[in-house]
Amino acid sequence: MYVVGLTGGIGSGKTAASDYLASLGIGVVDADVVARDIVAIGQPALTQIAQHFGSDILQADGSLNRSALRAIVFHQPSERKVLESITHPAIRQRIQQQLANSTSPYTLLVSPLLFESGQYQFANRSLVIDASEDLQRQRASQRDGVSREQITSIMAAQLTRAERLQKADDIVINHGDLEELYQQLDLVHQRYLQLCQTY
Ligand code: ATP
Repeated sequence: MYVVGLTGGIGSGKTAASDYLASLGIGVVDADVVARDIVAIGQPALTQIAQHFGSDILQADGSLNRSALRAIVFHQPSERKVLESITHPAIRQRIQQQLANSTSPYTLLVSPLLFESGQYQFANRSLVIDASEDLQRQRASQRDGVSREQITSIMAAQLTRAERLQKADDIVINHGDLEELYQQLDLVHQRYLQLCQTY
């Protein structure tokens, strides 16, 4: 199993890049999707969260009330630690499981916090999709109308652009149009196909 960890700041083009590689037949494990799945109704992590934080953090239908939980952990680092001690092992386990189930020549692990969360440990190599902060802000706000403040606070929780680039094995600069992004991805894709054959 050869795993390429794909990351980048908010609005850098991670989804555009992983959608394109998926269209070439590459399996994608999305850490954000996994993080949501492990707290879905019926999942053991949700039961543990409700046991610790009380049923007030559940909606009437039994699903997680994210904003109620966020409000609790936001100002209380010890409570955040408890939450993470429940979610992180479940996320790690599910990521490993999905990577193991992938049958493509190599598999992408897409995670906005690949380096920050330690999920890089699952990857053989990292690919950073990079864009200037101006472009990141422009694209993120065009896509789903996130406010300037939200974008700034998400950026503050992520590595700086320079820190991320320093950790990257491979970098694709997403400053042009989508065609240019795909051309660069074709090159790294060929490289990964070679690397995974000799792995
Ligand atoms: P997030 O971290 O917020 O999930 P992301 O890194 O996954 O963001 P995308 O969703 O891929 O970023 O890109 C943000 C927006 O910018 C999307 O609407 C996408 O279609 C658009 N976009 C990405 N790259 C380009 C490009 N090269 N040219 C034009 N639009 C682009």
